[in-house]
Amino acid sequence: MPRLVALRLGHFLPALLLLGGGLLAATLPTLTDFFTSLFNVLPTLLLLLGGTFCVVYGRQRELFMLLVLYLGYFLLDEQVDHYREFGRVREDAALVFHLSSLLLPALYGLFALWRERTHLIQDLIARGAVLLAVGGVAAALARRYPHGLEQWLSVIRWPSLHAEWMSLVQLAYPVFLLVIIALLVQYLRTPRPVHAVQLVGALALLWMLPNTFIQPHALQVMSSVVMLMIVVGVAHEAYQMAFRDELTGLPGRRALNERLQRLGRNYVIAMADVDHFKKFNDTHGHDVGDQVLRVVASQLRKVGGGGKVYRYGGEEFTLVFAGKGIEQCLPHLEAVRQAVERYQIQLRDRQQRPADDKAGRQRRAGSGASQVSVTVSIGVAQPGLEHRSVEAVLKAADKALYGAKSAGRNCVSCQAQRRRGAVKLKADAS
Ligand code: GH3
Ligand code: MG
Ligand code: MG
Repeated sequence: MPRLVALRLGHFLPALLLLGGGLLAATLPTLTDFFTSLFNVLPTLLLLLGGTFCVVYGRQRELFMLLVLYLGYFLLDEQVDHYREFGRVREDAALVFHLSSLLLPALYGLFALWRERTHLIQDLIARGAVLLAVGGVAAALARRYPHGLEQWLSVIRWPSLHAEWMSLVQLAYPVFLLVIIALLVQYLRTPRPVHAVQLVGALALLWMLPNTFIQPHALQVMSSVVMLMIVVGVAHEAYQMAFRDELTGLPGRRALNERLQRLGRNYVIAMADVDHFKKFNDTHGHDVGDQVLRVVASQLRKVGGGGKVYRYGGEEFTLVFAGKGIEQCLPHLEAVRQAVERYQIQLRDRQQRPADDKAGRQRRAGSGASQVSVTVSIGVAQPGLEHRSVEAVLKAADKALYGAKSAGRNCVSCQAQRRRGAVKLKADAS
């Protein structure tokens, strides 16, 4: 059964807020001079700034999406300017508009779905060649056969599927539909901020194109907004790379350091460390070790009492409880310690897997060798007379962790006291 992936609001929120703001600005009857001038330069500014950002960080996919959006904007903006100035559309307006309605979603979708290759230059050349080829062929056809092409584009191929509200060429709708479905599938398979942004961006284009000549600022505002979404998506991923641990998905050491700077007077820090993990790695292999770290992270993440979990490094995790005392946190720490202990990890490692299903069933029914479990030791500390600074509390928690290890592991220890199983909880006296 395919793995169900939870939709993450956080991936969509920035793009949706931008889309909401864009819709508002684009449908306002008048914009102040300031905003009119801003939206006149914003697409160019975003291409330059965002494009440079993408080039420097090797984000070819987003670079080409920005280029496609800018080309679409540039071509249509000329038409809109002419329409505003003279009160009627230019001679080639229908051809340019129909061609853009088809090529903009098609190229946007193509570049959004085209995964980046490891070789940057090859990737850049391949994408550039496709853009040049499609753009070149379209421009040549438009110049050579303007009427034939316009007629071919505006034919209603499926009259039964045509509706009054469809103001784009009919072909554009299946293209949009395919692109939106493919982008949705891409997001569900790999939920990344950039994939979420691409999906919302496609919807924004679907709103923008029919409104290009109707809403006064639809083109400038929505082009800017979609380009901004892409730049924000790239920045969001860069932030995640810096602050999130890739293996476990937990916030990493940098995020912890930031959080530690913003703690108030009362807080509790706990350090959790997987027991005998080196031996576990040696026995089962590094891949299984990684799988176990993910499981431990997912169990620790469930900690109650408002605790937040970070991967400190290696097989060590830090739990931070802001505004709490040790007494309040110990039951929650004890609960996660037990949850990790109880969790039976099904090995997914290929080498450990039996060759066929029958052997697998026998093995699962027999020795249970495909299941493993680990335990964690936890050291807890809070600020007190002996350790006032965050660094000192962190050190005290680490010291308490050593205490838990020397007390036989698989227990929670707070400096002087330690506890295992159902022993009554006691707070640190300091
Ligand atoms: P103790 O109970 O005293 O904590 O013993 P330990 O073996 O867990 O302690 P030690 O610090 O000696 O070993 C930690 C091991 O964790 C060493 C390293 O192989 C393993 N490790 C650290 N990071 C990772 C990782 O990202 N993936 C995997 N698979 N193993 C890791
Ligand atoms: Mg360790
Ligand atoms: Mg360890």
